[in-house]
Amino acid sequence: MEYDKIEVPDEGEPIEVVDEERIELDIPDHPIIPILHGDGIGVDVGPAAQTVLETAARATGRDISWLRVYAGESGREKYDENLPEDTVKAIKEFRVAIKGPLTTPVGSGYRSLNVALRQRLDFYANVRPTYHLEGVPSPVSKPEEMDMVTFRENTEDLYAGIEWEEGTDEVEQVREFVEDEMGFDDTFHEGPVGIGVKPISEKGTKRLVRRAIDYALEHDRDSVTLVHKGNIMKFTEGQFRDWGYEVAREEYGDEVITEDTLWEERDGETPEDVLVVNDRIADNMLQQVLTRTTQYDVLATMNLNGDYISDACGAQIGGLGIAPGANFGDARCLAEPVHGSAPKYAGQDKVNPTAMILSGEMMFDYLGWTDAANLVRDAVEATIAAGEVTYDLERNLEDAEKLGTSEFADAVVGRIEQLA
Ligand code: NAP
Repeated sequence: MEYDKIEVPDEGEPIEVVDEERIELDIPDHPIIPILHGDGIGVDVGPAAQTVLETAARATGRDISWLRVYAGESGREKYDENLPEDTVKAIKEFRVAIKGPLTTPVGSGYRSLNVALRQRLDFYANVRPTYHLEGVPSPVSKPEEMDMVTFRENTEDLYAGIEWEEGTDEVEQVREFVEDEMGFDDTFHEGPVGIGVKPISEKGTKRLVRRAIDYALEHDRDSVTLVHKGNIMKFTEGQFRDWGYEVAREEYGDEVITEDTLWEERDGETPEDVLVVNDRIADNMLQQVLTRTTQYDVLATMNLNGDYISDACGAQIGGLGIAPGANFGDARCLAEPVHGSAPKYAGQDKVNPTAMILSGEMMFDYLGWTDAANLVRDAVEATIAAGEVTYDLERNLEDAEKLGTSEFADAVVGRIEQLA
């Protein structure tokens, strides 16, 4: 493996595919794992998560050789590039990696590096579990009721990056085409306009929904809800719903039942051990996650809805400092917290590293290191329950001790050593 400016560690082995057809990975006990600390608070949460994760790996008889990779600010410093080829190649070749947040300027500048990474490496499912940890303060009265996993399609929708800036020749060409050739005259207002395209494909939808259903079956969940705004955007979001139901009906036999069949054939009575696939309109869903929290389990949705809904769910379990995530492709995983680079706190050793640590827990789960994953989660939970927390939780708790990022990570490391 040839790289320009990064050095692959001598110790450790790459994770490799052993069965191309079944997309099965061979996971060594001492893998090489690329890590990108990220921009802004990435410089705080990246090293903190790294320490916690390597402690949990060692405590369960394994080891990790980290391969530091760079993008965003660190990419510009080292390579004079936002997204160096070394980084894309390393994440591609080593298959399982973890990253912190990357800054994306609004309006001008470069396109989102996160979106570029997800698209280039075909990380098509962004998975965001939202569950409550004991002791975490929440704005709702029963935060323990929140236990949902959002599967967000990651490669298309309005995030695909097909858009044209107002005032350019291109945007005028598109306007002309849409008005004159496609017959949507009088649709655009006069004067400057920006235009974006929203592709939703059968391939993108079906592989995402399949992944959500597989997860729900494996984890004994009760339902998968297709979240869409198909009443308005019929040929994109409505089609997402239809293709989603098609997957459920055609590929899962008796294991899965759709909500309409349930009512037509069984008066709404759900049989035991059957996964229900239903659908909800996105705006209603944003309300339901708050008002009917226990009725939902796994959500499968498109890129933009998924971003909104998972943040709303995250708010109920303690906010962005807590909410983990991971991107999955075929035989690939890139763990990353839901939060961004929060530039105003960068380098202050202040923010909560839990979201990145728990993203690492998801990565461990993917590796099949369930014992290490449980150890990480238990240690984080015990630390928070003991009232040892960062500023974001401390401000909503009485009698808690406010710790910095690295102090919190040390406290978690101490608990891992006790619990192991
Ligand atoms: P943000 O960075 O997530 O921060 C928003 C607020 O969330 C912070 O001000 C803070 O709230 C809280 N927060 C976030 N992370 C936290 C942590 N680890 N611990 C404690 N509190 C935390 O969102 P943003 O300000 O909208 O975005 C900043 C940049 O990040 C943008 O360039 C955006 O594009 C980028 N971004 C990147 C990713 C990614 O890399 N995957 C994701 C989202 C956004 P309080 O100030 O109230 O404490």
